[in-house]
Formats: sequence, C-alpha cells, structure tokens
Amino acid sequence: MKAILINKDDNGYSAQFTDVDESQLPEGDVTVKVDYSTLNYKDSLAITGTSPVVRSFPMVPGIDLAGTVEASSHPEFQAGDKVLLNGFGVGEVHWGGLAQKACLKGDWLIPLPDVFTPKQTMAIGTAGYTAMLCVLGLERNGVTPEQGEILVTGAAGGVGSVAISILAKLGYTVVASTGRPEQADYLKGLGAAATIDRNELSEKGRPLGKERWAGAVDAVGSHTLANVCAGLKYGGTVAACGLAGGFDLPATVMPFILRGVTLAGIDSVYRPKADRIEAWNRLGTDLDFGHIEAIMSEIPLSGAIAAAADQMAGKVRGRVVVDVNR
Ligand code: NDP
Repeated sequence: MKAILINKDDNGYSAQFTDVDESQLPEGDVTVKVDYSTLNYKDSLAITGTSPVVRSFPMVPGIDLAGTVEASSHPEFQAGDKVLLNGFGVGEVHWGGLAQKACLKGDWLIPLPDVFTPKQTMAIGTAGYTAMLCVLGLERNGVTPEQGEILVTGAAGGVGSVAISILAKLGYTVVASTGRPEQADYLKGLGAAATIDRNELSEKGRPLGKERWAGAVDAVGSHTLANVCAGLKYGGTVAACGLAGGFDLPATVMPFILRGVTLAGIDSVYRPKADRIEAWNRLGTDLDFGHIEAIMSEIPLSGAIAAAADQMAGKVRGRVVVDVNR
C-alpha cells in the first residue's frame, strides 16, 4: 500500500511518501480500506516533526480517516460498512489514516453518518468535529445568540472556518479574528459579521478588558486566550481547543472571579463515543453544506508532506482533504 511513513533514527526525523507492506499494519480487529484522510494541525506537526506528536516509530500519521471495512472481528462492524475515525491516538501511537489501509480497534470507529459522503466527513475532519464540540460547550454553558457577539480565533484555519459556519447558521453574530485580512471575504462568506486583526489579541494585555464577547471559540491559546478571557462579558464562556499561537496561558484569575466567566476545555481525541455521535449528528443539521466546498481543498497522498509544511507556515485556508488513492 501507499503511505506516508515517519521515521526517527540515527539520521534524524524524516517523513516520506512510500510503499509499505500491508503485513506491517499494526494489530486491530477491523481492517479498513481508506477512501479519504485529511491534514489536521496535529498531522502537520507530526509530519514536519515540529513537536513530539509521534510517540512510536515508524509511524503512519493521520488522525482521521473515512473508509470501508474490509475485514472485521468486532461485533459492531462487518465487511462493506462505511466507517469514520477521529483521534484515539491514531496517527500518534497507532498507524493512522494517511495510507491506503488501516488496521484499527473497532471501539474507535463510528458508522459514517448517513448525511455525509466519506469525502465530506474528511472535509470536516477532527478540526470540524472539534469546532462542533466547542459550540456544544458554549451551548452547555448557556451562551445564546441574543447575548451578543461570539469571537472565533484562528478563523481562517480548519477549526475556525467550521466554527464560523455552524455559529452563523445557529443565529449567532460571529466576529472572526485572523492574521490574513485577504481572507475577509471568505470568512464573511462563511457567515462572519465582521473580522478583526489577530494582532489585537496576541500581545500581553490587561487582566480585565472591556466586556465585549458573549462567548468565544479559541484555537490559538497563549496571550490570545488570556485576552479573550479578559474581554468576555459577565458570565460568558470561551471554548478553548487549540494552541496555534502557543500552549502557554499567561492569564490572571480576574475574569473568573470577578465576571464569573467559564474556560471550557475541549478535547476531541479521547471523547466518549456518545459525544462523538452527538457532535456528528449536530454537524449534519447545523453546518451549512454549501460551505463545505469553500472550506476544503483536495490533494493526493503524495502531496501531504508539502501541504504539512504549508500548514505549519500558516498558508493553508480551511481544510485539506487527502485522496489516499490518487
Ligand atoms: P489550522 O492550521 O487549520 O488553523 C490554525 C489557524 O490559527 C491558522 O489558520 C491561523 O488563522 C491561526 N494561527 C496560526 N498561527 C498563529 C499564531 N502564531 N498566532 C495566532 N494565530 C495563529 O489548524 P486547525 O484549525 O485544524 O487547529 C487549530 C488548533 O486547534 C491547533 O492548535 C490544533 O492542534 C487544535 N486542535 C485541537 C483539538 C482538540 O481536540 N483539542 C482538535 C483539533 C484541533 P488565521 O490565518 O485566520 O489567523
């Protein structure tokens, strides 16, 4: 099979597009013929070796895949079933989706949601499913459209793009924070009411600022997340899922103890199955399908290594679908 393979040896860290013998696939109770995978931020970290995402070598990266079951000894899946995988350490400690086949634990899989094609699920991918988890996090904390503006940071990226589309369809007024002013029309096309320059949020700020945001989806972390907390209205919530700007959090407790704001942490990787299915069901109703084409671009498997470098350089807009059979 064709695959992206990451190695670390005496010569250092390397990723290559190569042939891999299927007999090397790891153990698992479901073998999946992969139709599509995708490039998430974490995959690009792994492929470029920017941070230690991969914890065993050699590794096939790819935290997402959509495909067809070829063989299964798991009671919930049979040959021919269409399935979807997001996370569970796949592409980090277990061979992942950037290959033509994968051998996985059936407990990690969910049936491919009926309303989506395999390619559409990868256009959404972990980034989009995490955006949905963030919106669910805002809802659970009582954030409603009438309360005011919702800020989305890292707006032109994968999480940001899908979050904007969902929030706008649900009736929220979305403000998109981006470092790419040339993407303003794209972001407004997804439903953003306005855009702001991400530099307004990226420097050390005051412990408390003007109360502006009813809620926020933050994919950036660091000073940006600290400034988002400082700018939340009384009782507001930020769903924090990312670290594109840094994994530190140079904040004070003031927004929490004086304004009762909530910092809702969002993890997608080990999220229980019921939450995954809820999020994918909600994506089926709350994402504007007309936006999927605008959000995604498509590359062959052989293009994944170059695209990972582009993503790390902040040059990728929206989501990248990988056709592993092309
Ligand atoms: P993308 O690469 O698609 O988007 C990231 C965006 O962040 C960029 O497009 C850019 O937006 C912005 N950005 C990049 N670098 C910086 C910087 N130095 N300072 C401020 N903003 C920056 O990644 P994803 O959207 O897929 O993922 C976003 C984050 O969410 C990542 O950190 C990822 O690891 C995390 N994540 C976490 C998950 C979880 O389970 N918690 C699941 C999925 C993702 P713009 O150009 O508009 O400024």
